[in-house]
Amino acid sequence: EEDLRPAQIRPLAGTTRHRLCAGQVCVSVASCVKELIENSLDAHSTRLQLTFIAHGADLIELTDNGDGIAEHDFEKLGLRYHTSKLSQFEDLENVNTYGFRGEALSSICIYADVTILTRHASASIGTKLIFDGEGQVISRTPFPRETGTTVSIRSLFNRFPVRRTELQSHSKREFSQALNIIQSFAIISRQIQFFQISSSADNHPPSHPLLTLTPSSSLKDTLAQIFGQKILESIIHIDDNNDDDENKEFKFDGYISRPQHGCGRSSADRQYLYVNNRPIDCAPFLRTINDIYRHFNPNQYPLVALSIEVLDRSTLDINCTPDKRTVFVEHLSNMCDQIRLILNKLFESSSNVYVSSNK
Ligand code: ADP
Ligand code: MG
Repeated sequence: EEDLRPAQIRPLAGTTRHRLCAGQVCVSVASCVKELIENSLDAHSTRLQLTFIAHGADLIELTDNGDGIAEHDFEKLGLRYHTSKLSQFEDLENVNTYGFRGEALSSICIYADVTILTRHASASIGTKLIFDGEGQVISRTPFPRETGTTVSIRSLFNRFPVRRTELQSHSKREFSQALNIIQSFAIISRQIQFFQISSSADNHPPSHPLLTLTPSSSLKDTLAQIFGQKILESIIHIDDNNDDDENKEFKFDGYISRPQHGCGRSSADRQYLYVNNRPIDCAPFLRTINDIYRHFNPNQYPLVALSIEVLDRSTLDINCTPDKRTVFVEHLSNMCDQIRLILNKLFESSSNVYVSSNK
């Protein structure tokens, strides 16, 4: 007979809870890559080398030249909510690091075989650490290396057969999303001096680099490196410095395709948004930009690389989702209005130039 008593609410056991919930951070090759890059940048690295085997399905590895990890932190690395970056909620408004939730490494440990090879500036030799699925260190051996850290993620989703199969059948698409993430950091980070990406499609290590970026101090030069020198003829600077509104809430700095030089028929390709130096997703804001662009060029989408500074940090919440890509901007409609004004002015003057230069 059917049991009609209401189900009881019971607490989930620690490990069950961990496996059910902590998985929301690293859900793809791209999100693993994002977390690794963020950790390297937070550790003040200037040289980053990324290696992918089988488009990342067999190996995602990032070697950096950052601060390295001190021995007293080894055991805490893979534990959830363990971070060196934030200690109380109130700090969130002023946090300058990409990470602060202490979730990424513990999430990656659930999904893959994780090895970390690190040497802290104060250590005389490096250490190789192997983690289990619960984020515990199961092996620790001395290993020579320079100061810095290498995180290796092997066989992503190997304990989750359905997702593993899914990943293997779409690994190329996953890899191109990861490349997009890499580009978004290369565009915004003034700290990266050298960024090398190597990738193989099969299960052999890649024999030569796919891409080497040496981002420069100017956004324009970095865009030229990523998209080719020719891109410079087709983009215009979004500059709001002449706008002397005293009560300005936002500052914009970036580039967008000229109306006569759109770059593609699909929007997602080459549109990069940053809020206070973080790469973010903000669909309504992008839609505003694309709508204005459509008035001037109905057939294409623009390349967009736009850095937004929210001047009053208390009107910005960067902690809306585990991946920190969705931010909440309190005065979003003002932000949209402001960019609408700037772009209309910019496109009107730039199409005049275009028309007159063709006479
Ligand atoms: P969070 O970045 O939110 O602190 P993570 O799980 O991504 O959480 O990382 C946990 C901790 O591991 C970090 O706080 C940092 O101290 C250390 N860490 C991770 N990756 C690196 C790295 N590449 N270099 C130095 N320290 C690192
Ligand atoms: Mg992190």
